[in-house]
Amino acid sequence: MTQNIDLRKLANETGPDRCFVSVFLNAKSTWQWLERRFEEYRGLLEKSSDERENFDRTTDMIRERLQRKPPQSGSLAVFACWLSDFYESHHLSVELKEHVILDSSPYVRPLAEFLDEYETFCIVLLDHKGAKIFLVAGVDITQVDKARGDIKNHVRKGGWSQQRYERRRDKQIHNYCQEIAGRLEELAKEDPFEDLIIAGDKVLVKELQGHLSTQMAQKLAAAEPVRAGLSDQELLEQLYPSFVQEERREEEQLYGSIREECFHEGRAATGPLPVLATLKEGRVNHLLIDRELKLKGFRCRRCEFLGLGIPIDCPRCEGEVFEVDLVNELVELAAQTGAKTEFADPIEGLTLWGGVAALLRY
Ligand SMILES: [Zn+2]
Repeated sequence: MTQNIDLRKLANETGPDRCFVSVFLNAKSTWQWLERRFEEYRGLLEKSSDERENFDRTTDMIRERLQRKPPQSGSLAVFACWLSDFYESHHLSVELKEHVILDSSPYVRPLAEFLDEYETFCIVLLDHKGAKIFLVAGVDITQVDKARGDIKNHVRKGGWSQQRYERRRDKQIHNYCQEIAGRLEELAKEDPFEDLIIAGDKVLVKELQGHLSTQMAQKLAAAEPVRAGLSDQELLEQLYPSFVQEERREEEQLYGSIREECFHEGRAATGPLPVLATLKEGRVNHLLIDRELKLKGFRCRRCEFLGLGIPIDCPRCEGEVFEVDLVNELVELAAQTGAKTEFADPIEGLTLWGGVAALLRY
C-alpha cells in the first residue's frame, strides 16, 4: 500500500547547512521545469562552497535515479542528500503540488499532509450473497478479501417450519457477520487501516456492527446502506464524502479537546512559540495546524538552534542563521517525538491562536 512511509525516519534525517534536496513532481510536471528550479537554487549558493558542491552531486543523484522522467500518474516525492548518502522516493496515487526545496532536512510537510488527509481506510461491502473487503489508499481502491454469504431470501411457509426456517436464517446471518468481523481483525494486523466504512444491505450493515470488537468499532466512520451492483470505483465515489466528513470531524474534535484544556490551564499549547517549545520537550501528543499556515523560522548553522522569525544572528550563540519553513520543522519535530499531526481547514479559534495548537501528554 502507498502508506509504507516512515515519516519519523525521514524527520530524523538532518544535516549541517542546506544539504537536503526535496522534490515533489506530479504527472503534469516537466523535467525542464525541474532543471530550471535546480538552476535557480544553484545560483543562490556561493561558488565553490561545500553547499554548492553537495547540491550539484545531490541533483546528479536525482537525475540519474529518475532518468529525467516525471511520474506518469499521481505524484513522486524524492528526498536526497549526497553528503548523508541518502536517497528516498515515494510514489503517491494523489496529485500533489510541485515543490523543490533545499533545506537542512527533508521537506516532509506535504507528505505529512497527504498521510493525514488520505489515511488508509477499509470498506466492507456486503449483501446476502457475499461480502467484499477493500482497502483504500490515496485514490486507489483494492479488494483484499471476500466472504461468502449465501443467505436465503425470506419465504413464507407458515407455522413451525417458518419458525425453524427463520431461526436457521438468523444463525446463518450471525455466522456470516462473525466471519467478516474476524477477517477485519486479521486484516488490521497485516495492513493497518485508520477508518472503517460498512456499506451494503441495511439489515446486514446493522448486524455486522454488533460483531465488531471495541477497537474495530472505534474505527467505524460510517455505516451506510448502498444499492447493489456498483463498480468498485462507483462505490468509492459514493463513500468518499463520508470519509472526508470523518476527517473534518476528527479535526473539530481535536480543536474541541485543546479548547477544553485551555479553560483550566490544562494540557494544551496554543500559538507558534508555545507549540515549538513543547514540541522540543517532547510533550506534544497531537499537533493541530491550519493547512494554509505559513511561518518563517530560522536555524543556526553553528548550534542548530531552531526559532521563530529571522533574527540577524543566533540569539543563543550569535552564529549565522538561515531561514527555514517553520511549519515543516514543527511537523518534523512532531514525527520525531511520536506526535500525530492533523492538518485542519480554517477554524476560527485556531486562527486566533495563530494557526497552530497542540494537545500535550503532560
Ligand atoms: Zn546558535
